[in-house]
Amino acid sequence: MTDPFDISAVDRAHLWHPYTQHGLGRPPLPIARAEGAYLYDSSGRPIFDAISSWWVTLHGHAHPAIASAIAEQAGTLEHVMFAGFTHEPAARLAAALLERTPGNLCRVFLSDNGSTAVEVAVKMALQFWRNAGESRRLIVALEHAYHGDTFGAMSLSERGLFTAAFSDHLFDVLRLPDPGTSDTGLVLDQLLAERRREIAAVIVEPMLLGAGGMRVWSADALREIRDRTARQGILMIADEVLTGFGRTGPLFACEHAGIAPDILCLSKGITGGFLPLGATLTTERIFERFLSVERRKALFHGHSYTANPLACAAAIASWALLDDTCAERRRLIERCHRRAIAEFARHAAVRAPRVLGTVLAFEIEAESGYLNPIGAELHAFALERGVLLRPLGNTVYLLPPYCATESDLDRAYDVLRAFLALR
Ligand code: PLP
Repeated sequence: MTDPFDISAVDRAHLWHPYTQHGLGRPPLPIARAEGAYLYDSSGRPIFDAISSWWVTLHGHAHPAIASAIAEQAGTLEHVMFAGFTHEPAARLAAALLERTPGNLCRVFLSDNGSTAVEVAVKMALQFWRNAGESRRLIVALEHAYHGDTFGAMSLSERGLFTAAFSDHLFDVLRLPDPGTSDTGLVLDQLLAERRREIAAVIVEPMLLGAGGMRVWSADALREIRDRTARQGILMIADEVLTGFGRTGPLFACEHAGIAPDILCLSKGITGGFLPLGATLTTERIFERFLSVERRKALFHGHSYTANPLACAAAIASWALLDDTCAERRRLIERCHRRAIAEFARHAAVRAPRVLGTVLAFEIEAESGYLNPIGAELHAFALERGVLLRPLGNTVYLLPPYCATESDLDRAYDVLRAFLALR
């Protein structure tokens, strides 16, 4: 008996997909299940998830330890509002995160995705100054930044295709040039000399500007930004929504530079890719600015699903899997990537080959930009060959789950090799 329910027909009639022009391209592919590094379509065909399903899947799909932690939690406490109540999964998660996050971070504010983790960080930074009676309304952000799709996060992000329709409603930020190609420290010095007393915070994606083109930048530049903000008492926000939980090698990208931010944003891999959760971590210095007998000094931010116990249970289980074996797996992925990139670098159409931890990236010689059709071509080419890739325009990248084996990675490299051979 076949199931009469036609997913594709209902999808076509009623669903609206993200970043999708429904007037173009192929219909979305129904996925029936997933396990380890693979997705399986309804015919059972395996597809190697070489980008961790938008960078969320950490240890592999349907990891049994995380699945059973969620199931157990679901039978105990599925949810309770987090104002006026607390619970063990949130407390255990906070304690676990704070043990291994950089510096003296000691407070955790939970939300439910990467954009909200950033919104919370910016609201904390702005109100930090307001609670002290200072008016500091400016945020400094990087060129090519991407911090999410809500209005605050869009304001911080590079203006372009993704923000154009909303540009009249975004707040202004001060921009620092791409630290991968410019002397960002020098420009920051100039900004600080002119406007120090107006600046609330500087926000960066440490070491890797992700959606802005997988641009790798240096630990030295990160240290320079940290030194200057610390010296001037300006807050530094590290958005590790993408880079957190080992993607760039160490658990957090800030560790490359041996620095600690005042505010750290986490999401994506935090639950191993099982459930939506955001976390904004900060220091006692910041928390104390909100501590008062005056209600109006409280941080007025919250979500219905703040600290959802199922998401916290998933995050605790995922955190426990970030052990030495996992670190060894990440090193293996990096070694494989380095071998492969040395070969791709010799191809005439490959530009700026780079590897940072488990991330491999390069540009294919073509006009740059998210709408360059080469991205969609490679996506379709790879999918036909059982590999999920989703280039950012002509920027090709791999960002696999940590359970990926050498032979899984070879599959992805083979696809890239074959695609490059056509150019
Ligand atoms: N910050 C960074 C660095 C990201 O890469 C992303 C998403 O790609 C976000 C924030 C937004 O996260 P979300 O898509 O969960 O809202």
